[in-house]
Amino acid sequence: MSAVFAAVLAVALSSSSVTVKNRRLERDETVGKALTRTGLDDAANTQVQAALKAAGFDFKKARTGDQLRAVFEGEGLVSLDYRRSLLTEWAVSRDGAGLRAVKRDVARTERTDLVELTVESSVWDAALKAGEKPDVAITLADVFAWDVDFYRDVQKGDRMRAVVEKVLHKGRVIEYGRVLGAEYVGSSVGTKRSFHFVLPDSSSSYFLEDGSSARKTFLKSPLKFAQVTSGFGPRFHPIINQFGAHNGIDYGTPVGTPVWAVADGAVTRAGWDAGGGNMVCVKHVLSLETCYLHLSKIHVKAGQKVAQKTILGDSGNTGLSTGPHLHFGMKRGGHWVNPLSQNMPRADPLPAALLPSFREAIAPVLAQLDGAASNAAASP
Ligand SMILES: [Zn+2]
Repeated sequence: MSAVFAAVLAVALSSSSVTVKNRRLERDETVGKALTRTGLDDAANTQVQAALKAAGFDFKKARTGDQLRAVFEGEGLVSLDYRRSLLTEWAVSRDGAGLRAVKRDVARTERTDLVELTVESSVWDAALKAGEKPDVAITLADVFAWDVDFYRDVQKGDRMRAVVEKVLHKGRVIEYGRVLGAEYVGSSVGTKRSFHFVLPDSSSSYFLEDGSSARKTFLKSPLKFAQVTSGFGPRFHPIINQFGAHNGIDYGTPVGTPVWAVADGAVTRAGWDAGGGNMVCVKHVLSLETCYLHLSKIHVKAGQKVAQKTILGDSGNTGLSTGPHLHFGMKRGGHWVNPLSQNMPRADPLPAALLPSFREAIAPVLAQLDGAASNAAASP
């Protein structure tokens, strides 16, 4: 750039006094608050929110980390971009005296792919080896959460196949959508197959091939399979102490692993215990109660109703604990029982009337899974 041009540009910029403010939505922050932090006054803030709303912006879907970019000329707002993910963006700009927002969709392609993983060291590494994002492991762990404990049950040589929706941007996977069908073949859990099905009321759920529900009253694991910020994540091989004298199961896991409610229920306690450290207990049906000990953080309050898979807290090393772990205990009728030996019922099966449409819906997915199975068998 020539010196003269640079000087002209500098003058042009300073005379228009354009400022750009970039902000991210903080944890538990509302869009309104974040807008205030960009420097908007109350009137402009209300205008921006009204414009976003008119463009179909769903404020309930605002998430920590969403990005805002506001451009001001002097005191006045010129434009504002709100980016929710790599794929969805809203652009607010001046429109006469008011503001107008439009939703911008970033170029994306969607396709359904067969994903095949073979575990050698961890599910995480298996995903990377298959050329997938590790997120696919989390997605699959969620589908099998009623039957496979991804911290306890995964063995070397276990195989997974899944028909998964992918969202791509410039040829790279950005996120995984629904898992339409999946198979787990493991030495400790046997073969499990689950299929996604949309019910007439447009809710959806997972079912086994014969139409019985894949869901159970209780999940197999008190730990949500997740990438942990400490960097270990599920690569870390947990030390499991089976049910014994101390009335529970210990999962050796890095501090910060999300701990979830294994079943629907109501929180009976959430607070400090001399031995248990930060401790949460939840009461369920069948006079069952579960307790989660040594947490680093608690995310629920006593009396609160929780659904299965609600995150109760993060695992930790508080109270009488000699290393980062989750102690998981279960009571039946007030007495400690071994969670591993409880046989939990499945949710209701599909009504017989829906079976024909279910079979029709899963046929192509089954063909893909079976095709993969025979290919694998044929290869040396
Ligand atoms: Zn323990």
